[in-house]
Amino acid sequence: MPVEKPRVLIVEDEPMLAQGLAEALRFQGYEVDVAADGQRGLSMARRGAYDVMLLDLMLPVKSGYEVMEELREGGSRLPTIMLTAKGAEDDRVQGLELGADDYVTKPFAIRELVARVDAQVRRTRRERGDGEVFELNGMRFDLGRLEAHRGDEEFILTPREGEIISYLRAHRGNVVTRDEFLLEVWKYPTANVETRTVDNTLAALRKKIELDPSDPMIIKTVRGKGYRWGG
Ligand code: CA
Repeated sequence: MPVEKPRVLIVEDEPMLAQGLAEALRFQGYEVDVAADGQRGLSMARRGAYDVMLLDLMLPVKSGYEVMEELREGGSRLPTIMLTAKGAEDDRVQGLELGADDYVTKPFAIRELVARVDAQVRRTRRERGDGEVFELNGMRFDLGRLEAHRGDEEFILTPREGEIISYLRAHRGNVVTRDEFLLEVWKYPTANVETRTVDNTLAALRKKIELDPSDPMIIKTVRGKGYRWGG
């Protein structure tokens, strides 16, 4: 069962910011759509099955407040993170009163925003509570919720990490090469991404899930070839 990609709607009229956010989230395994004004954002939010919306407040055609208000009036519970201006305390309060779930203040670190998006997605998935659950080497994985547990310790997986685990597990017994990962998991044309991307992502994932990352038991290295599921 493949990991269902969480979908993010970005409603932001600054093209550079919208593009930067979209790229960062896609890299983490999210599917991303962008709306550049409030009206379009609202109709996309109503139509599409999104997991999270990032909502700028100062938008052309329809403001972020109006979007939030009309969306909630229509009964939508779509988790929403507002992108607010520095020092605009009133904006934040008003947005939260209208039903936003969280906010970040501009300028923000993209990493921080991605972490907030991960948290919102996890919340909605927890409520749904479906997914692929299994255990290996003392680690219990719940790929539907994008969580892993070892004893009382909880580890949050990005959608990309969830896909990597799911792919390796589905192909257990086989060696998965870096090129195969890029093609099948990242879905990028291999020529455009360095294979180092795979190694870096796998190294970060091992730090989370392996008891001893220098002697990995869950995701094993096959020297000179690639990676293999340890189960
Ligand atoms: Ca704006």
